[in-house]
Order: sequence, then C-alpha cells, then structure tokens
Amino acid sequence: MKDLKKNVIIVGAGPVGLLCALQLARKGIPVTVLEAESDLTIDLRAGTFHPPTLEMLTPIGVTDAMMEIGIRVPRWQSRDLEEGLIVEWDMEILKDDTNYPFRLHLEQHRLTPILYNMLQNYPHAEVLFSHALMGLSQNDDQVSLVIDHHQEQLNFTAQWVIGADGGKSIVRKSCDVEFDGYTWPERYSVISTTYDLAPLGYADNAYMSDPVQWVAFFRMPDKGPPGLWRMTVPVDPEISDEEVLTPKYANQTFHRALKGQIHQDIPIVHQSIYRVHQRVAQQFRKHRILLAGDSAHVNNPLGGFGLNSGIHDAMNLAEKLTSVINDDVSTDVLDLYERQRKTVNLQYVQEFSIKNKKQLEEKDPQLRHERFAFLRKTNSDPHLRREYLLNSSMINSIKTANQIQ
Ligand SMILES: Cc1cc2nc3c(=O)[nH]c(=O)nc-3n(C[C@H](O)[C@H](O)[C@H](O)COP(=O)(O)OP(=O)(O)OC[C@H]3O[C@@H](n4cnc5c(N)ncnc54)[C@H](O)[C@@H]3O)c2cc1C
Repeated sequence: MKDLKKNVIIVGAGPVGLLCALQLARKGIPVTVLEAESDLTIDLRAGTFHPPTLEMLTPIGVTDAMMEIGIRVPRWQSRDLEEGLIVEWDMEILKDDTNYPFRLHLEQHRLTPILYNMLQNYPHAEVLFSHALMGLSQNDDQVSLVIDHHQEQLNFTAQWVIGADGGKSIVRKSCDVEFDGYTWPERYSVISTTYDLAPLGYADNAYMSDPVQWVAFFRMPDKGPPGLWRMTVPVDPEISDEEVLTPKYANQTFHRALKGQIHQDIPIVHQSIYRVHQRVAQQFRKHRILLAGDSAHVNNPLGGFGLNSGIHDAMNLAEKLTSVINDDVSTDVLDLYERQRKTVNLQYVQEFSIKNKKQLEEKDPQLRHERFAFLRKTNSDPHLRREYLLNSSMINSIKTANQIQ
C-alpha cells in the first residue's frame, strides 16, 4: 500500500478547489488536488458572477478569460407575474464603487477549465482525477487521508488539507463538523431553452415574484451568441422528479411564466432538478483541516451568492495559508479566516438568500404590494438605489469581512 506524502492536499476539483490550488501554486507551494470524478464536472449550476468576485480574479488573469466568453449584465429586473415589470436596476450607479458595474453570466463548468488550464503552468501543482476521498484523520503534525483510486486504496499524508468537496463534503463529515441549518421542502427545477426572451422585454437577468411559482431568468452564454435562456422555478411537492424532467412540464412552466405571450412549444436544451439547503458549518477550521465553498456553506440560489462566496473563501484562505507556509505567520491567522468568512456567510449570504426567496414567494397581497412600492421608491432615489445594489452585488459583504479582526 503506497503512502504518499504531500504538502497541501485539496479535496475537490470544483471551482473553489481549483482556485485555492492556483493561488497556492502561484506562490510556489506544492499542491495536490484530489477529484473523485474522472474529469472536471459539467452541471447546470452557478452562472452569475458579482463585481467583487471579478475584481479579485483580475490580477491573476481569470476575469479577462471569463469576460471573453461571458455575458455582461449591467441591468437586471424585478418582475411580478401579475404586475409585470416592477423595476429595472441599472448597476452603472456603482461605477465609482467597482471597475465592474455589472453581473457576468458564465456557466460554472466553463470557469473550471480556465482555472485548470492555468494550473498546468505550475509543475509543482497536480490534479489527480478518479481519486475519491473516503476518510481522513489528523494529529498534531499531519493529516492522513484514505483515497479510493479505481477500487485501489491509497494512503496520502499532508501538512494541510482544504476540503472543497461540495455540500456533501466527506472532509467535513470525517472531522465531525456539524452542518447547521435546514433543507427546504420544495425542489427547484432548472430549464434551458433557445427561445429568446429579449423581444418580450426581459433583461438578461430577471427575478419574477409569484405566490404559486416564482421564476428566476438568466441568459447564459452557452457555446456562444445568442446563448440560452435559463429558468429556475420551485416545484410543487406533489409532482414527481420524472414528471418535472419532461418537455411537457418545461413547456407548461414557460407558458405560465410568460402569461400566454407565446403559444408554440419551445425548444428545451437542458432540464434538471435539485434540493436546496441553508446550512453553515460550525467550524471552517479544524486544526490542519480547512473548509471552503459548499463544503462550508450552502444556500438557495436566489441572488447568486453560493459560488461567489466560495470564491471569496478561496482567495481569503489561500492568502492566509500562504503566509503560514511561506512566511511562518502564526496559524492563528487561519482562525481569522473562519471568523471573517463564517460571519459574512451567516450575516449576508444566508440572510439575503432567505429574504430573496421569501419575498419572491410572498402570498399576502398587502405585503406583496408594499414590496413593489419599496422597490420602486428605492430605484427612484439614487442614494437608496446605490445602497440596495451594494448589497445585492456583494460589495458590502466583502467590506464587512475585511473589517473583521
Ligand atoms: C441550480 C443552481 C444554481 C446556482 N447558481 C449560482 C449562481 O448563479 N451564483 C453562485 O454564486 N452560486 C450558484 N450556485 C451555487 C454553486 O453552484 C456552488 O456554490 C458551487 O458549485 C460551489 O463550488 P465548490 O467548488 O465549493 O463545490 P462543487 O462545485 O460542488 O465541487 C466539489 C467537487 O468536489 C468533488 N468531490 C466531492 N466529493 C469528493 C470526494 N470524496 N473526493 C474527491 N472529490 C470529491 C466533486 O466531484 C466536485 O468536483 C448554484 C447552485 C445550484 C444548484
């Protein structure tokens, strides 16, 4: 049985794991990424990147690569199924707050190849596919990992381990860290079509409230212009997964959302269904083991905060771990990572994603109309609009994290 000694092991070659690896490799730190799958995964998940994320990724060239293939979305809409357009938010008002006063739409599975290809420039970085973590333990000096590689057991040791292995994290479970929170009863369905919603007045991103079935719309770049329109909706618990994944369900859902503006069947390109959670790990650090991204926190997708906050974790953690490894800075700085990132996840990502969901599904007619009035008033006052957009674009979340000591 081989015993492979490593400096830093990152479990999971998703966007968060690959970004941690890239940041460490750039500073000369040998790093090994272990990925359970045989290749980078492709799935319909994150697709919205906020200004602070683009700012962070600029110095390492990732933002330029993303901008080449992504869609800039300077305006997004708050809509209601009955009322139609409530407000169109123009992010240009943030031009003095950020170099990127827009959202960037890009599929998560098109970011991971960018990070992976950049990592190839560093001979001291390796990504080992078909290496699934089965469990780990640690003592004062090192972490021991048991890996399954094509049904052969491999034993690795590392000075530091970063768990970037997603919401079901084996790293988190193996070190007995509780994942506090809950799972929503409803599932969400994601449907993509080539049918173009722009002629119907839709901005490239729109959130449409409705007490029965709200909708989040995104135009995604896919393989190039004109791209695809993606729709996310909550699913009635009475309907089976099989039924949700049919073209009939997709068409009914589109037709309902567009209130009879279209009559023909639309071409369906993708459909998926998934469960949604609001959970935050009790600890982001357990001695030599650190958690980042979905292994540390998960949230509903309303607002597009999940991967963005995972990227913010990766940048924060990699900088601090680099200072520990390269500059002998006290490992206490890793506790600061936990304080900063856990605090803003609870106060910001969890709070705003839950609030966004509740507002979109609000059933009380009076509260619904009060919200429409609030949104219109906020948008008509430049000061209030800027404050609103500083929150929705995560600029305030980063400022808060950086102030925590
Ligand atoms: C429908 C949907 C829409 C979303 N939209 C947005 C959005 O617009 N904006 C946003 O910011 N976020 C969004 N999110 C959230 C976003 O997708 C996640 O936050 C993001 O994928 C987290 O990245 P990660 O690298 O932490 O984990 P993952 O992407 O889950 O990657 C984990 C990796 O670890 C690997 N792995 C797992 N277990 C093991 C093991 N035992 N050993 C080795 N490898 C392992 C997996 O194969 C995977 O490659 C959305 C999520 C969903 C479901």
